[in-house]
Amino acid sequence: MKTIKRILPVWVIAVICMTSISKTLAETNETLSARQEKIIPIGAFTASGNIPKLETALNEGMDAGLTINEIKEILIHTYAYAGFPRALNGIDAYMAVLDQRKEQGINDKAGKEATPVPADFDKNAYGHKVRNSLVGRDISKRTSGYPVFTPIIDQFLVEHLFADIFYRDILNHQERELVTISILAAMSGTEPQLKAHLRISMNMGFSKAQLDHFVVVLRQEVSVESAERASVILNDLLGINPSVDQKSVKVIRNGKPTKASEDYFTGNVTVESRFSSEIPDSYHGGIVNFEAGARTAWHAHPLGQTLIVISGRGLVQSEGEAIQEIVPGDVVWIPANERHWHGAAPNSPMSHVAISAPSNGSTVEWMEHVDDEQYMNK
Ligand code: MN
Repeated sequence: MKTIKRILPVWVIAVICMTSISKTLAETNETLSARQEKIIPIGAFTASGNIPKLETALNEGMDAGLTINEIKEILIHTYAYAGFPRALNGIDAYMAVLDQRKEQGINDKAGKEATPVPADFDKNAYGHKVRNSLVGRDISKRTSGYPVFTPIIDQFLVEHLFADIFYRDILNHQERELVTISILAAMSGTEPQLKAHLRISMNMGFSKAQLDHFVVVLRQEVSVESAERASVILNDLLGINPSVDQKSVKVIRNGKPTKASEDYFTGNVTVESRFSSEIPDSYHGGIVNFEAGARTAWHAHPLGQTLIVISGRGLVQSEGEAIQEIVPGDVVWIPANERHWHGAAPNSPMSHVAISAPSNGSTVEWMEHVDDEQYMNK
């Protein structure tokens, strides 16, 4: 069955519940600083190896007041989590950016240097102390897992990462964690480490609101995938997902709408009321709001998608088929790997609930934008 199916109105009560939840939004003033915001795409694009976007992020970081040495330190820190090749490519890009800025007459501040390591530096003791303070408990004598199976890699972690690198005080430990979660969110398959470091970030003083802000920056500046990865894990850590053994009903009211990335949408689109199953790798969803004329790019879902229209009037099209109109109460089923788009009608906004399941951590593969000609060809 390749065709997108449209099922007529059946969803009125659930729709009323969902829209009323989405309107009552918790506001908070606690956010990341402009400087902290700029650290995120630098770490993420170095780790993912996206050099053109890294160059933009480096320029914006310098414009926001990060010093030359602070950005060097972010790139050095990245090697411990994403490897020498990515870090060295990032450093090459940074050297070129600095040259261009010098040619343009921009006078960037060098910033402070790292305090030299004392002659009697006990790397092992210092590294254990740092790691214990990050995780919030004494884990220096573990009796199972990789430290027992490969003690040398635990020694490298303690004496090199948490001593040689963490002793360098150009970045504080909270800033280093921000770099780390940005790197881990930008890579796939590192979800267990991302979870551990989101927890450490809270130990280093980041509030829930600041970590929500981190996800917003990922979504707007880095990629939808990185934001999804971080958001699912953060919700899990913060107990937003009901646990399997939860016995009582829980009302979830999670934050303000976030703007969808221009890389994957045309026009003004916001996402709110995200939710996911307590069962790992089961469904994820949220309410997507499209202004009149706004739409997704062409895309496909590895395991298909269900849309439930809750307001306005919209359009959906599967490649090679006619555009179909969708109205509140319609349920739209999109088969696995079907190339399609959805969005608002040209003269009406539209909101739908979107539900899909991840395959290898991803719920969507994005393709090119839907141009005006394709969109208006009704
Ligand atoms: Mn879709």
